[in-house]
Amino acid sequence: MNIRSQIAMVFHLDKCIGCHTCSIACKNIWTDRKGAEYMWWNNVETKPGTGYPTKWEDQETYKGGWEKNGDTVSLKGTGKFKGLKNIFHNPYMPVLDDYYEPWTYKYQDLFTAPEGDDQPIARPVSLVTGEPIEIKSGPNWDDDLGGSPDFARKDVNMEKLTPEQEAMFQLERMTFHYLPRICNHCLNPACVASCPSGALYKRGEDGVVLINQERCRAWRMCVTACPYKKSYYNWHTGKSEKCVLCYPRLESGQAPACFHSCVGRIRYLGVLLYDADKIEAVASCKEEELVDRHIDIYVDPFDPAVIEAATANGIAMSTIEAAQKSPVYKFVKLWKLALPLHPEYRTLPNLFYVPALLPGMASVQDGIYNSTTKSLWGGIDTTRLPMKYLASLFSAGNTEKVADVLKKLMAVRMHRRGVTVGDLKADEISQAMKETNLSGNTADEIFRLTSLATFDDRFVIPPAHREESIEMLENTADVKGNTGFGFKETPARGL
Ligand code: SF4
Ligand code: SF4
Repeated sequence: MNIRSQIAMVFHLDKCIGCHTCSIACKNIWTDRKGAEYMWWNNVETKPGTGYPTKWEDQETYKGGWEKNGDTVSLKGTGKFKGLKNIFHNPYMPVLDDYYEPWTYKYQDLFTAPEGDDQPIARPVSLVTGEPIEIKSGPNWDDDLGGSPDFARKDVNMEKLTPEQEAMFQLERMTFHYLPRICNHCLNPACVASCPSGALYKRGEDGVVLINQERCRAWRMCVTACPYKKSYYNWHTGKSEKCVLCYPRLESGQAPACFHSCVGRIRYLGVLLYDADKIEAVASCKEEELVDRHIDIYVDPFDPAVIEAATANGIAMSTIEAAQKSPVYKFVKLWKLALPLHPEYRTLPNLFYVPALLPGMASVQDGIYNSTTKSLWGGIDTTRLPMKYLASLFSAGNTEKVADVLKKLMAVRMHRRGVTVGDLKADEISQAMKETNLSGNTADEIFRLTSLATFDDRFVIPPAHREESIEMLENTADVKGNTGFGFKETPARGL
């Protein structure tokens, strides 16, 4: 066992109200600068939809992430030889049109316009050229299904749906959920492995992935390599940038700005301990095993053998204690309620999502809209957001995985309704609890952490241990042969 610690996250999608407060909090702190105008380290998409940058999930076009190569993985679009070939022209890079041309308004005109019969207006001007522009896209252009079905139909996850499931575009069936996204601070980060300058690194003590601005040489391989398109190029400084998980805030015990400001309280953050020796085997396993084996990589922080191995690796007791209280550990590992976004990219992301139950709950049966609790169990295949669609997002196509989570969420609701309202039959509730393997106490705990959690319940941040840090995964990709598993070679922490 080679135990490491990682700050990991859960977003509970049923609670997201799509207010974009998180995006603005991040923008105000980090990317309200020249060259960064188009960047949204935190963005919120509507699903189905094309997202930001447009169709970022289309890896045929962008070639992000890893592909399985026998018992290991190789980068899809960059790496030693592929990167060299594209060094002067990289065809897999998103361009400004794929993001959007950032703009502001000529607010001054509101004050200086000559008096007249019409209301003065502030015309939009490009933040790149300073010239007036006609706005044709934005970072959340298809918000709340705006422009659908045009945009929603182009959602990459739609390609896997059968013609019958096109029925979801019938007006009375249409539904959506929000998908807030930040960098996943992956365990097998394609961005780190792709960088020819060794500018990207993963912090030893908490797994935060950062770009050393001094070492960045603007190759932009990380922009191509990140399948989530969460590494961006700053055209003004000539360096790449990405979400830093507000590490200065973390180091002083504060939650990242997007977490702290989240109106829906959908965000949870905490330590996960994991076995770094398993990364290569898990990243290269069969697609159908990816979710289970990914979750299996995280270990029990109460297990004495884990504690011993973690301590031997220099992990502080305060970090281990934080891992024991981690809400992320509960959602991901104990309750198995949260799933990784697009596990098939094989970067082993550390941001997990509790899929939205609400769009699933209401279904159409015999042409009648039905939102009673019982309909989910019977109609899990007829939910308004098809299970195949959710599985394409969260489980590499395995519909059972998503269905299991939704059933558990439903069982918790039924149990709580039994406690507070009492209008459901006791045998129905116990059948639901039995099928989902939930006890009453666990269901109550899930309910509490979902609905009544305080700041301290949602964010369990360990004291900073920069003094013991090593940087993992530096210089791995091109130096050691096109993989991201370099930290096997690094010394134990604290040595
Ligand atoms: S999501 Fe993963 S691959 Fe993308 S920038 Fe973040 S750590 Fe790198
Ligand atoms: S602040 Fe929270 S609720 Fe609002 S859009 Fe962001 S993640 Fe969703």
